[in-house]
Amino acid sequence: MRLTRLYVDGPLASGDLLQLPAPAAAHVARVLRARDGDPVVLFNGDGREYQSRIETVRGSRVAVAVGTARTVDRESPVALTLLQCLPRGDRMDWIVQKATELGVERIVPLVSRRSVVRISAGQAESKAMHWRAIAVAACEQSGRNRVPAIDAPRGLDEHLGSIGSAGMRFVLDPDAAPPAADAAWVHAATPIALDVAVGPEGGFEPQELDGFRIAGYCGVRLGPRILRTETAAIAALVWLQTRFGDLRVGESAGPADDDAR
Ligand code: SAH
Repeated sequence: MRLTRLYVDGPLASGDLLQLPAPAAAHVARVLRARDGDPVVLFNGDGREYQSRIETVRGSRVAVAVGTARTVDRESPVALTLLQCLPRGDRMDWIVQKATELGVERIVPLVSRRSVVRISAGQAESKAMHWRAIAVAACEQSGRNRVPAIDAPRGLDEHLGSIGSAGMRFVLDPDAAPPAADAAWVHAATPIALDVAVGPEGGFEPQELDGFRIAGYCGVRLGPRILRTETAAIAALVWLQTRFGDLRVGESAGPADDDAR
């Protein structure tokens, strides 16, 4: 069985005795039924894992002895940003979880013209905090030692007006023409940064697609079937990680590190 991995929001130093915050302590004590002396891996997003040990479980108070740190890199060589137009219901929770497992570096939730979901300025930050907690849990589960950034939701026009110049950009469009044979990305080696934008259930409006093109995004069609927005997000991330990143089945993935988990 894999070792329990716990995220700690704060500094970690070998030799420290750390009281787990109440929610994490309750989870460890009641759900995992941890015992004194059980091994546990702590991480705080600094790229390292701290091989640690539960010192004491007293009711729902849990103290952990922080052990030695080692750098364990399970991050993609490309900084992947998912620009996701907000889907209905709680599907964004699902997308955040899966995108984190698939190695995104950043998620930018967007509200576009056909988005059904509207979010007030007051709700935006609390929504982002909710998604950040989901991303943390996905890092605990998937072995990532860096937590993706999750922006507060914002309007698509605002986003397109503020993007920088780095990296390659794609917008998913079921009607996109096949890429020209000489399109730069078709022959590109691993780029440093990649953005991919996914429309809401109703798709993007033509003016929005024009806005993406003006901002340097290439339209991409992912096969002949219309995918639901959440399927499209996952399919795009798998495509990009396979084409440019670290999802290359059968190729060497570097030194084996399974003993770490
Ligand atoms: N009724 C909409 C479909 C929207 S699907 C339309 O016809 O445009 C939701 C989003 O998923 C789309 O905006 C697009 O970004 C993405 N998507 C779904 N299927 C796709 C495909 N085959 N290729 C590229 N993008 C796709």
